[in-house]
Amino acid sequence: MYKAPRGTADILPEEQGYWRFIEDRAIALCRLYGYQRLDTPAFEDAQLFTRSIGEGTDIVTKEMYTFKDRSGNILALRPEGTAPVCRAYLEHGMDNSPQPVKLYYLATIFRYERPQAGRYRQHYQFGFEAIGDADPTADAEVIEMAWQFFKSLGLGSLYLYLNSIGCKVCRPKYMESLKRYYSAHVSGLCSDCKTRIEKNPLRLLDCKKPFCYDVAEAAPKSTGYLCQECETHFEAVQTYLNTLKLPFEVNHRLVRGLDYYTKTVFEIQPLGEGAQSALGGGGRYDDLIEELGGRPTPAIGFAAGMERVVLNLKRQKITVPSLTTPPVFIAHLGNEANLEAVKLASTLRKDGIAAIMGTGDRSLKSQLRQANSIGSNYVAIIGEDEVKSGTVTLRNMMSGEQKTAPPAALGDLLKKVD
Ligand code: AMP
Repeated sequence: MYKAPRGTADILPEEQGYWRFIEDRAIALCRLYGYQRLDTPAFEDAQLFTRSIGEGTDIVTKEMYTFKDRSGNILALRPEGTAPVCRAYLEHGMDNSPQPVKLYYLATIFRYERPQAGRYRQHYQFGFEAIGDADPTADAEVIEMAWQFFKSLGLGSLYLYLNSIGCKVCRPKYMESLKRYYSAHVSGLCSDCKTRIEKNPLRLLDCKKPFCYDVAEAAPKSTGYLCQECETHFEAVQTYLNTLKLPFEVNHRLVRGLDYYTKTVFEIQPLGEGAQSALGGGGRYDDLIEELGGRPTPAIGFAAGMERVVLNLKRQKITVPSLTTPPVFIAHLGNEANLEAVKLASTLRKDGIAAIMGTGDRSLKSQLRQANSIGSNYVAIIGEDEVKSGTVTLRNMMSGEQKTAPPAALGDLLKKVD
């Protein structure tokens, strides 16, 4: 027997209601904030990701699904959503449109990670990007939108963490200070952190291992090294967030896993859980578009992991709207009734009414049992008598009440009772 590959999951019919609910709320939110949908391919030139996410990051060094196609092109399954959006923004000349350009996506993401609860090798993200706006109001708007996304789903008990990791002017000094500090605290660090000191020092701050965590707590803070511009920007973002009454907390250990971030970074987490369980996160990436060959273009974005949202909807016992009204079940007995049932099913569906036909040769009792199991509220019965009189008997499965009508009148009858 084959199984779904490790770290992937089937989304079964009974789960689909959660997914549709999240997607519907995401799309409605994007309309409110003026974002347009962009779909990009599931794979891209691998270099797009190595250059943007960063050579030293876990995603690039350990987690990318990179492969050579039959023409020898080196491609990678999308390990994140922002770089493809920026690639498309440039490729389609959106840099010549009035700025900012606001785009959103709902997309599969692939990372070769160690699977655990809420961590998969294929997952889905809802993300949005505001490209071409340097103003701190853009940061506040994106953060508010992210917050509103979870609120619109009915999720409560959330934490909003905020930090600024500076820009290419002030970050190098901070990196040096961080390296110096860590070089003095090497012994006891986990092996990953030991290699991060040279390769990816910022990530030292969000290691979850107990010893590394304590060392990170006492590490120099990025906000102590911000240049004037970054500091003013960070203060303004906080003022706007306070104006919007968003309950944020500055977290000096918040750095995010991708190299392209500048200035503002933020994350939304469910109460009482570690950063491993972040529902979503984002930040500014003011240098990325230029890095990818465009003009200097400031931008900010956010992405949420849909599986984790589903997990939290379940944990918080949030009921989601049911996906469909149950279909009318057509029970039939005998060959002639079978033909009438085929016709009736087709007519009802053309009339916009969902209908399912009973399986032939089964007793009425067994067909009614089947109707019950799929949750049908109404069963249309065609037996010998109905064939003779050219009618259909409609049974209300809740009350047991029955009505007889010609097949052509059934659609209207059902619409009335619905
Ligand atoms: P990132 O692109 O790492 O900023 O991730 C954005 C969001 O996607 C995270 O906050 C998680 O909710 C979700 N996410 C990231 N990696 C995974 C994964 N391997 N499995 C499931 N969800 C993930």
